[in-house]
Amino acid sequence: MYLLPEQDRDQLMMRATECLDEGSSIEDKIKMARHMYDSWSEQLKREPHIHQLIEKLEECLENSREAMLELGIVETCKHCDEEEGGSCCGAGLENKFDTFLLLINLLLGVSLPEGHSRLDSCYLLTDKGCSLKVRLVLCVDFLCPKILSALSHDELVRLQNISGDELLTGFKLYDALKRFMRNTRH
Ligand code: SF4
Ligand code: SF4
Repeated sequence: MYLLPEQDRDQLMMRATECLDEGSSIEDKIKMARHMYDSWSEQLKREPHIHQLIEKLEECLENSREAMLELGIVETCKHCDEEEGGSCCGAGLENKFDTFLLLINLLLGVSLPEGHSRLDSCYLLTDKGCSLKVRLVLCVDFLCPKILSALSHDELVRLQNISGDELLTGFKLYDALKRFMRNTRH
């Protein structure tokens, strides 16, 4: 299991936790995230700390993507989804997202879905896979028994370190956005 360094753990414990949109539908959250993007994106991208975190997160996401390709996880999940009756991206998981996480995806150039294309699965799953770059801890961290049994101990540790960097940088950006928006006149 990946263990965060103490300083990082303390930072995570300090992050803002209020959720403005608990109970809203995913359609409403997407609408709100687009609205926030239109109003805030230029200011957010100009802020040096946020700009730096966006760049760092892009790097982490690329490292995760490369590792998952190299370790055969992308291929296994594709086969599972297309040939074995569907992936583990269950319907309702989209409700665990809040507007800020969707806003981060917009800042990273993601096009959020216009509708629910696969009704028996997560709203954010499309025919080409997950529509997001920045996902829930649950989505990043989950490895099913099939994948776990195909990885050696060293491969698993490597993957967990890479995923840990992705999650930690995502948390830092999430926190920085909220703090900036809370403290900035607009
Ligand atoms: S993680 Fe496992 S269950 Fe989920 S899509 Fe991949 S192979 Fe299938
Ligand atoms: S990986 Fe994407 S599609 Fe799957 S549950 Fe997470 S957000 Fe939904």
